[in-house]
Amino acid sequence: MAMKYDQVVSAFDPVLGLEVHVELGTKSKMFCGCATLFGAEPNTQVCPVCLGLPGSLPVVNRKAIEYTIAIGLALNCSIAPYSRFARKNYFYPDMPKNFQTSQYDEPICKNGYLDLEVETEDGIKEFRVDIERVHMEEDTGKSLHVGGATGRIHGADYSLLDYNRAGIPLVEIVTKTIEGTGKYAPLVAKAYVKELRDILRSLGVSDVKMEQGSLRCDANVSLRPMGEKKLGTRSETKNVNSLRSVERAVRAEMIRHAGILETGGKVKQETRHFHENTGETTAGRSKEQAEDYRYFQEPDLIPIAPADSWIDEIRKNLPERPSERRKRLQSAWSVPDKEMAAMVNADVLDLVAETVELGADPTKARGWWLGEIARIANENEKWAGELPISPVNVKELIDLINAGELTDKLARQVVEGVINGEGSPKEVVAQRGFKVVSDDTALMEAIERAITTQPDVADKVRNGHIPAAGALIGAVMKDTKGQADAAKVRSLLLKHLGQSE
Ligand code: ZN
Ligand code: MN
Repeated sequence: MAMKYDQVVSAFDPVLGLEVHVELGTKSKMFCGCATLFGAEPNTQVCPVCLGLPGSLPVVNRKAIEYTIAIGLALNCSIAPYSRFARKNYFYPDMPKNFQTSQYDEPICKNGYLDLEVETEDGIKEFRVDIERVHMEEDTGKSLHVGGATGRIHGADYSLLDYNRAGIPLVEIVTKTIEGTGKYAPLVAKAYVKELRDILRSLGVSDVKMEQGSLRCDANVSLRPMGEKKLGTRSETKNVNSLRSVERAVRAEMIRHAGILETGGKVKQETRHFHENTGETTAGRSKEQAEDYRYFQEPDLIPIAPADSWIDEIRKNLPERPSERRKRLQSAWSVPDKEMAAMVNADVLDLVAETVELGADPTKARGWWLGEIARIANENEKWAGELPISPVNVKELIDLINAGELTDKLARQVVEGVINGEGSPKEVVAQRGFKVVSDDTALMEAIERAITTQPDVADKVRNGHIPAAGALIGAVMKDTKGQADAAKVRSLLLKHLGQSE
């Protein structure tokens, strides 16, 4: 019998550990000159080095080191004056060398932290996540298992291998144990990955597309009874590939562990897979210990010893931190905390900022991205940024409204049209034949009709009961099929009935 989440967090103290792999956006691979374009024909971006052919020798990508140092600095790490690569030995068909070139006991960045502001049901809470290390390694190739029902190797008829991804620079960012988050643990995990993603994006070191796997999170979760110091056994949910899934996977694991512990069972140390559709995890392989990998120093690569002047140069060029940018935008736009949190939560801040940069009013830009567009996104279980509507479109929409060519109501239909692929706002307006009735004569005719059908309501307004006007305005809007400007109708109507606003 599964425990309820609030029972879980009243009996147990969760401890997290998060490992994030990020593919760097360098033009060439980590140890060879092969291209890194996503979606290329299989096995067209390969060479003897990344195919692990005997006798080939790796050379380090300088840009990848620069990017990694930038990440380390942005995460408040110290940069090692001297670090080395190591071989992590294991066999898997997508890794042709039979070892992954990684870093082991000498990572390039160590001991940093990341401060988070987490929006919870009890308001905004601050957490600091300590970073253990940031190290460099390379990605593996990709296997495609054909013929089975699940796309996994079990039950497949055969497998195909694509080595285009083999050797793409990866940076792995590992936290220390994250303690003291209590019931907020799933939210903290999500906020951490989100903040990290925003930092990586601001640094320009990766496209951070979780859905394409350029940023993936392994979530380690363990529980211990309240008041206990000793850590419980952890499970590691691998390759979680959306922010929402990070939160769900942590929550699911907390509930699963609690169910086992409560009945006196033992949690197995193993990797797990998270399934978006069921919201549950299933067992993967039992977890290797570090010694199983027979790590040893990579003899084919020289140590990395970045000059202080180079590190200073990278530090000097670090962009504004996302948290500082948020504060700056919030004050520039004079947005209340709650609205700001709503934008951050819906992940539309960049979209609003881009719309404002194009010249739109911040309040209006925010209104559309958080309103109609977010609504449609939710309905389709998508993020607003995934919908085919751009800041340029939204700016155009706002301009049309400002010019009196669209009412809010029509504008909402235009948003829908743009998202349906009917073209830009102007094109949708033309194609759907939207035309705001701004002609006073036409509006006055509609107002007269409304007054004739509802004479008693009109009398109320004449006698000074202004709220009654709503029914008449509604009738006019209906009469003009929503193509009238409601504010204008209101003012004409009130004036006509001898009232001022
Ligand atoms: Zn290559
Ligand atoms: Mn790794």
